[in-house]
Amino acid sequence: MDGPSGTGKSSVSKRLARHLGAAYLDTGAMYRIATLYALRRRTDLADPAAIAATVADLPWSIGTDPEVEDIRLDGQDVRDEIRGAEVTAAVSAVSAVPEVRELLVAAQQRLGRKAHRVVVEGRDIGTAVFPDADVKIFLTASAEARAQRRNTQNIAEGRGDDYDAVLASVQRRDHLDSTRTVSPLRAADDAVVVDTSDMNIDEVTAALTAVVTE
Ligand code: C5P
Repeated sequence: MDGPSGTGKSSVSKRLARHLGAAYLDTGAMYRIATLYALRRRTDLADPAAIAATVADLPWSIGTDPEVEDIRLDGQDVRDEIRGAEVTAAVSAVSAVPEVRELLVAAQQRLGRKAHRVVVEGRDIGTAVFPDADVKIFLTASAEARAQRRNTQNIAEGRGDDYDAVLASVQRRDHLDSTRTVSPLRAADDAVVVDTSDMNIDEVTAALTAVVTE
């Protein structure tokens, strides 16, 4: 399951995994853990070699149960911290480093292969991580619809109300993720593309359940 942020990808992937009795892997969380680690180690984010050296010994773990979010760095629960503004602003720089992608893609393939069935969400799953996946889905939505959703989520979670700033951040990350040289964000040629701009989570889940069980 690929697509930019704010398309409903995470909620729908988890629901789909539960529905299918499958494991669930959030690869964005993995890039976020690497970013948090680089920030904690005060790595120069303008220096890809320094980022690669830091991330090489990442002391992390991530669970694959869609019911239990288990994301750790140095054994410590970092679920909230990896979603904060500081990590979000820095994650595109870290995820553009080829050595970081190599390391994390290998871990994703290992975790995915361990599961009997798995829903994997990210940006390059259908194109690079599991090019032979049984089903590939690419979720898309307008930047405005995605910013609106993210802002509503921020308000609900007490992180403030600033639609314009959220829209600017969504557009900035879209640009960085789709123009990087390694594994840019794009739909695989054989992916089913679903535009969720005018759909709610229940509608998206129903549409995708039909695609997967077809
Ligand atoms: O999905 P999420 O917003 O948590 O992803 C955070 C960032 O991680 C993305 O903006 C992107 O830079 C990176 N990412 C990636 N490849 C993936 C998943 C996420 O480059 N498979």
